[in-house]
Amino acid sequence: MAGKGPRPDTRSSGGRRAAGLACDAVSRPLAFRLVVLLAAVALSGFAVAPASSAPPPTPKPAHPWQLDHWPQTQPWQQTRAVTPLGQPGFPEPIDPQNWVNPDHMTWADYRKPPGTNWADPSKQGSVRTFRGALVLADYPNQPFVVTQPQGSTVFGNPSVEASGVPRDQVAQFYRDFLNKPGTLNRGHTIHEYWMEDSGGRYGVDLTAFGPYEVPGKDHEYAMEFQAGTGCPAGDSCDKNLRTDARAAWEADVGTEIPAGFDFVFYLSAGQDESSTWQEFGPMKFPTKEDVTDEFGPPDPALPNWSRTRYVEWTSWASGSTIWPNAGGGSTTQAESSGMSVYAHELSHVLGIADNYNNPYGVPARRAYSGIWEMLSRGTFNGPGGPHSRWMIPATGGASMGAQHMLRNKIDLQMVAEQNVLRLSREALDESGLVVANVTARVAQPGPKGLSGINIAMGTGDLAPPCSISTDPFCDGRGYNNYTVEVVDRMGTDSFTPDSGVLLAKTKDQDRAPFEWVIDANPQDIGMTDYVLPDGTEVPITIGDYRQLSDALFHAGTNSGSEFEYTDTANRLHFYVLDVKRDKVGVLSYTVAIRSLDGAGPQQRGVRLIPTAGQPAGDGLSTCVFPLDNTGKAAPAQGQHPEDVGSYLRNDVYRLSATVTGAGWSVSVPNELSTAQFGQRVPVTVHAKQDTAGTRLARVNLTATSESDPTKTSQATCYVAGR
Ligand SMILES: [Zn+2]
Repeated sequence: MAGKGPRPDTRSSGGRRAAGLACDAVSRPLAFRLVVLLAAVALSGFAVAPASSAPPPTPKPAHPWQLDHWPQTQPWQQTRAVTPLGQPGFPEPIDPQNWVNPDHMTWADYRKPPGTNWADPSKQGSVRTFRGALVLADYPNQPFVVTQPQGSTVFGNPSVEASGVPRDQVAQFYRDFLNKPGTLNRGHTIHEYWMEDSGGRYGVDLTAFGPYEVPGKDHEYAMEFQAGTGCPAGDSCDKNLRTDARAAWEADVGTEIPAGFDFVFYLSAGQDESSTWQEFGPMKFPTKEDVTDEFGPPDPALPNWSRTRYVEWTSWASGSTIWPNAGGGSTTQAESSGMSVYAHELSHVLGIADNYNNPYGVPARRAYSGIWEMLSRGTFNGPGGPHSRWMIPATGGASMGAQHMLRNKIDLQMVAEQNVLRLSREALDESGLVVANVTARVAQPGPKGLSGINIAMGTGDLAPPCSISTDPFCDGRGYNNYTVEVVDRMGTDSFTPDSGVLLAKTKDQDRAPFEWVIDANPQDIGMTDYVLPDGTEVPITIGDYRQLSDALFHAGTNSGSEFEYTDTANRLHFYVLDVKRDKVGVLSYTVAIRSLDGAGPQQRGVRLIPTAGQPAGDGLSTCVFPLDNTGKAAPAQGQHPEDVGSYLRNDVYRLSATVTGAGWSVSVPNELSTAQFGQRVPVTVHAKQDTAGTRLARVNLTATSESDPTKTSQATCYVAGR
């Protein structure tokens, strides 16, 4: 235990990662506080569960996924640390990017979308409620873990949250856990996921069957990635769970009832390999020879390790369990598969392909859509992060996945056409720039609001070729569209790491990558994946989906992210102009999209009006300049896929400020502004007297039209210091 040293996941302040020193300076006291906190948790012990068998008291972590399982303290056993962003002495940034490491999320991160109750089982989908069968299978050598005593398996399962469920109630237990609002699932269900994600169009109804004991041992159905090795003598490890579970189910209820379902979820007793191969492999044992007998096979002639999917080895106990998959209208899961595994697999049943990379692939390749998409690693979202997915019942990682991105929502007809603004790249130069408000995808935008923007690139992806064999950041080219949408950490997106604007290139066909998120912060995010038994902190790979945790764009300056993106080859400029959270709590952003090839027929113009500074205390003054759009509208031009006239009434202005006066500094909270033709809007600049110097100072502000950079205006503001 001496080697344990928690390392908070800190962020540098002041915009880009330039302020690395500030980060180091704050990390030590935070680390110290965390040590104290963890020590307190370890010592406090835990009131023994009111079970009659009265097991010896075990230390209880604050959250079940923080169970002390490994030689070293792991990131998900630690508590969140937040580093403030912004410029010291100036007001907070208007839209700081305080992204959260999934490892440090808890159920306290869940926020309910205002005015909704998507989990209500009495509400049907307005388009369709899918009827699913949940068919449970156990094995002569493997009962359902949740029927066993707490902590009785080598994986430390079942958790403190549920154990000792009688076998004849286990089907109802899992049906309720997955699809009936209750205490254990915190009121969250698969039905809720699909209803929220689709704006009430699709619901899910589950009926449970079984458990049925299939004839083979558990590992005889589950050696998918061991290439014929690891099968104990006398066993045949090529059995098919679907075949045997279906046969048992039909023997019980006949063939008519199974034929009446839209899909079948097969639920296998025990763990799944996808959520244990690292945690109960290289993270627990220094070498494969160190795997202990309790994690080994029943055949003493075999080693205690086995092959696995992505790396050389894991423990046999892990390698011998199933890897969830979908095919032929059915899916397989295990008891450690969270609710979002089912939501992901149902997406396949509806006909959408996977959009994820191999994070350990050689050559390395960046994640495609990662943490922001259910068909990518957004499936892993939930409290405790990806390495908490071994728990039974699955109340941590993968218990609440991300929504589908706009491209897939359009494909699955989960958004109304009237809520998608459709633009043509080839028409933008003739129409002039477009300004629009986009509502967070967790909320319903109403009849006139927007869930997102699709910019079709009719003449194709014009980016020059790149090589995926030499450049991990190469998107592979061949995209047909850009999409703009807004993510808020709310509802089923509560366990995404950030709220902001999500920009992506997409393809019309499901040829992965068919969604490629534009990463506002492409530099290495510097996150620890896990800690090896020898204390080595293993960073997440370049291909790890959590590299995209800081991908979202934000409004304003000093946010820690970017407020604009230019794709020169594709002749597009994207702007994040402003952010708003309304009275009931719904997040929206004002965005603009401009062609680099033309600004349309409108007359552009701008005028700034001088103003006087308002003292705000401690040497700080604020100037609010009136800005007039003195341009003129023109009849709409350009052939967009729909009438976009109401989105062509603005211009975008770039703002820059200086201050004249010794000892003064200046800050522009938002270097972009927008106004409709003839409209006046306020523009804010802060000035601060840092040191003794001149008491009076002059702030000079310049505004320049992005459509016509020859249209520019300047104005001054006098400020008084101490
Ligand atoms: Zn999949």
